[in-house]
Amino acid sequence: MENIIRLAVQKSGRLSEKSLAVIEECGIKYSRNKVKLKAPSYNFPLELLFLRDDDIPKYVAAGVADVGIVGENVLAEEEAEVRVMEKMGFSKCRLSIGIPQAVGYTSIQQLNGKKIATSYPNLLGNFLSQNGVEAEIHEISGSVEIAPGIGLADAVCDIVSSGSTLLANGLKEVETIFRSEAVLIANPSLNAEKESILDQLLFRVRAVKKAESFKYVLMNVPNDSIEQIMNLMPGMRSPTVTPLALEGWSSMHSVLKEDDFWESIDKLKSAGAEGILVIPIEKMIV
Ligand code: ATP
Ligand code: ZN
Repeated sequence: MENIIRLAVQKSGRLSEKSLAVIEECGIKYSRNKVKLKAPSYNFPLELLFLRDDDIPKYVAAGVADVGIVGENVLAEEEAEVRVMEKMGFSKCRLSIGIPQAVGYTSIQQLNGKKIATSYPNLLGNFLSQNGVEAEIHEISGSVEIAPGIGLADAVCDIVSSGSTLLANGLKEVETIFRSEAVLIANPSLNAEKESILDQLLFRVRAVKKAESFKYVLMNVPNDSIEQIMNLMPGMRSPTVTPLALEGWSSMHSVLKEDDFWESIDKLKSAGAEGILVIPIEKMIV
């Protein structure tokens, strides 16, 4: 039994930097030689494999890699047999249909008989048949958004995040067919040893992810507001309260969900809190 897991990440592209950042935040160190496909870690039983993102689902299904980080869009398109272990919270995007800005849009039905360029023929094909639309799917591997401009297609189905690429190519987004983010996938039948390494990896990934969604908050509060502020900010178990040198005041420390941040800050201020400091948390284990 080989006592390491092989983790496939995108070699170079939109997923690469963030995938490696998570690995590094998990305390997994490795040395990378840019020309090599593999990088072994020297402090965790893991080896990184650098691959094209489209190949990651197949390789993980086949056991060439044990785990991988890939976009849900690619995973859904490839229909590989893998387990989705964790949503990673980055590379959020959507797969959308775009048509020329000058063309009016009333409903999906107007795509009947039209030609649509895409790198996602399976996802698009499923969406069209669910909506009873028969269109010609023209599969191209890159620069899909230029297809209508050069007369290759009437519409596109492509990855969108802000929509600026569509706009720059004279297109507008008319239908969203799939929402995606990066996920950690695993081969369905790992041996017990690899499964236990995967558990350790997931434990660290979750601690990093959790930390990212919370902030550590410190503030000075008048003693008679402590109870009110405690209710606004319950913290992990309960907040830490220590007296200030100044009579009648205390320092309160707690954690706050990033999403609730601005709303909570306003409430804390009106409850009398001052000198509020908000500090990032590196790891969080609850
Ligand atoms: P490769 O050469 O590895 O095949 P690629 O050109 O297919 O790369 P990228 O453009 O690097 O892929 O995108 C990789 C993944 O990142 C996509 O499959 C998608 O999940 C996500 N992604 C793509 N575009 C965006 C975007 N604009 N914003 C956020 N995430 C995106
Ligand atoms: Zn790709």
